[in-house]
Amino acid sequence: MPILDVHNLSKIYEGKVSIHALNHIRFAVEKGEFVGIMGPSGSGKTTLLNVIATIDEPTSGEVMINGRDPKSLGRKDKALFRRKELGFVFQHFNLLDTLTVEENVVLPLTLAGFSVKEMEARLVNVAERLGISALMHKRTYEISGGQMQRVAIARAMIHRPALILADEPTGSLDSKSSGEVMEMLAEVNKAEGATVLMVTHDAVAASFCHRVIFIKDGRFFSEMYRGSSRGTFFQGIIDMLSLLGGASHDVSANRI
Ligand code: ADP
Ligand code: MG
Repeated sequence: MPILDVHNLSKIYEGKVSIHALNHIRFAVEKGEFVGIMGPSGSGKTTLLNVIATIDEPTSGEVMINGRDPKSLGRKDKALFRRKELGFVFQHFNLLDTLTVEENVVLPLTLAGFSVKEMEARLVNVAERLGISALMHKRTYEISGGQMQRVAIARAMIHRPALILADEPTGSLDSKSSGEVMEMLAEVNKAEGATVLMVTHDAVAASFCHRVIFIKDGRFFSEMYRGSSRGTFFQGIIDMLSLLGGASHDVSANRI
């Protein structure tokens, strides 16, 4: 059973002119996969992520996460489901600047009522994995963007969610920190078997994925698997993006 099953999903924004943001899109993500979503501006990437995240409702079709359809849940259960099964990484980090790094990272466990002992064990492990052990008592404004994103990844994975959703996680980072963050995300995916779905404009970031799904006009357009060489994959992604058209590509090949 896939961790994520997106089945015939459509989203229409009704208005003077209705917009078909998602148009019968379907794909599945298996446990432990690291999947990128790419497509031109306006192709429906954010809408797709919001529907999967249960932040937005589909017009038709369904999303199954870990065998359950969150749409069938009431408001309270849905919030609980989101907290338990999903981890989020955003472009602008979304850390709480009134808390320390450590408090930010353990927040999902605090909310879920974990014991202090269990929290500490997980914290030590995840902080080491992401190279942020030395930052635990700092405030978020005392650390760099790349460090903030690693803290955000630690927070997204500490409760071992079924699925980590990342929306442009390198969108606010310089190329060096981007590379570091992507390496960490790839490492977390590999070592912890965390399943990751990441929307990105950045072909370099996408080249860290196992598979990239390309969407256009709210539809599935094509997909590519990485194979053994990240460099070759990067080139393939660039070629696919130019085939797709639209103005949303980051083609700084010197970052590979
Ligand atoms: P992407 O993230 O790929 O740039 P979006 O999912 O943001 O694409 O948008 C897909 C389409 O849906 C676009 O045409 C956009 O203008 C439209 N859209 C997105 N959000 C809304 C909304 N809340 N109301 C109306 N139209 C929207
Ligand atoms: Mg978007």
